Amino acid sequence: YFANIPQAPPDGILKLSVMSKADPSPEKVDLGVGAYRDDAGSPWVLPVVNKAQKRLEADPAFNHEYLAIGGLPALTGGAQSLMFGADSPAVDERRVYSIQTISGTGANMLAAVFLKQFGQPQDAAVYISKPTWGNHRSIFQTAGHEVREYRYCNYDTLGLDIDGMLADLRAAPKGQIVVLHACAHNPTGIDPTAAQWQQIADVMAERSHFPFFDCAYQGFATGDVDRDAYAVRLFVSRGFELLVAQSFAKNMGLYGERTGCLHAVTQSADLVPAVSSQLNRLSRATISTASAYGAKVAGVVLQDPALYAEWLDNMAEMSSRIKTMRDLLRDKLVALGTPGSWDHVTRQIGMFSFTGLSKPQVAALKEQYHLYMTEDGRISVAGLNSGNIDYVARSIDAVVRN
Ligand code: PMP
Repeated sequence: YFANIPQAPPDGILKLSVMSKADPSPEKVDLGVGAYRDDAGSPWVLPVVNKAQKRLEADPAFNHEYLAIGGLPALTGGAQSLMFGADSPAVDERRVYSIQTISGTGANMLAAVFLKQFGQPQDAAVYISKPTWGNHRSIFQTAGHEVREYRYCNYDTLGLDIDGMLADLRAAPKGQIVVLHACAHNPTGIDPTAAQWQQIADVMAERSHFPFFDCAYQGFATGDVDRDAYAVRLFVSRGFELLVAQSFAKNMGLYGERTGCLHAVTQSADLVPAVSSQLNRLSRATISTASAYGAKVAGVVLQDPALYAEWLDNMAEMSSRIKTMRDLLRDKLVALGTPGSWDHVTRQIGMFSFTGLSKPQVAALKEQYHLYMTEDGRISVAGLNSGNIDYVARSIDAVVRN
């Protein structure tokens, strides 16, 4: 039965992480993994999460029962206000359905399976940005979609290729599914400006494309949860029906707890019973019920005003440390006179910077300097800290000159 199964290609990021872990060099710097690290290079449990955990576990009613199929209302309700705004007309009009998922990945997969069954037209292809998060292609293909790309990164300027993006969305047949990163585009860190989002919405409306927003970094990107939801809220205010995948991995540091939601914004409250019943059915068939612990922690944080305020401060702390590292890296490369321009490092936002380093330079950094990053030259800026930033800048300088 198993004899004819071909080997699947290894996952690039997981492979990198194994190599980095096996490297005993004291100089090693892991800039591969997309997880926040504090200035000592350690994982960070958000102080507000610590408090929420203590409160939960002190509650005599705490237990490990299954959640409902739709998930924990404290999470899904809080997540809805966070994504669409506390005074969102769409939420007030009861035309948004939110279901708890296995973090952002599970929300992507549930959306992919739902769109495969109910996409209109049925043969709509899924358009992803070039480049995008490595798992997008895999998720949508696994769900049976045809996946195509639209231009996104201008590889010369390491900024947005807005003309290419708009042209590709315009040239696509009507009614395609378009995957958009709500903020802090992975892997490039390049986001459209507010005006460019308007242009994207214009073309999406003109071509009747369906927006699927993937939002993995709300609040983590700029420290401002409303600013990071700008694109989603713009599309909702312009009357689009859409889906949004939301992850609490990065912004609440709940990576392994697998906490997230999928939101469906429909045209009218009358459509919610059918849409919610189908999302529930598909979720039941794949995961039965979502993970409880992270949802309970996030639910406490989202529902308690004092803890919510503290969470905003915790996010601001993470995003400002990352911004400081971007500034320092750029300044150090400029001070070293490293050939090329490095302004893109501070122009980009979120967890990642698309450095523009070539494949051979990335390989040299790994082999000669024990510096690990993905092959496309993406670094996780969260892996930089005051202890390694000089070494990283000097190593990059050396390979760029070579
Ligand atoms: N989408 C994007 C664009 C991401 O960068 C990530 C995290 N790497 C995810 C989704 C999903 O992450 P998770 O499943 O851990 O929430």
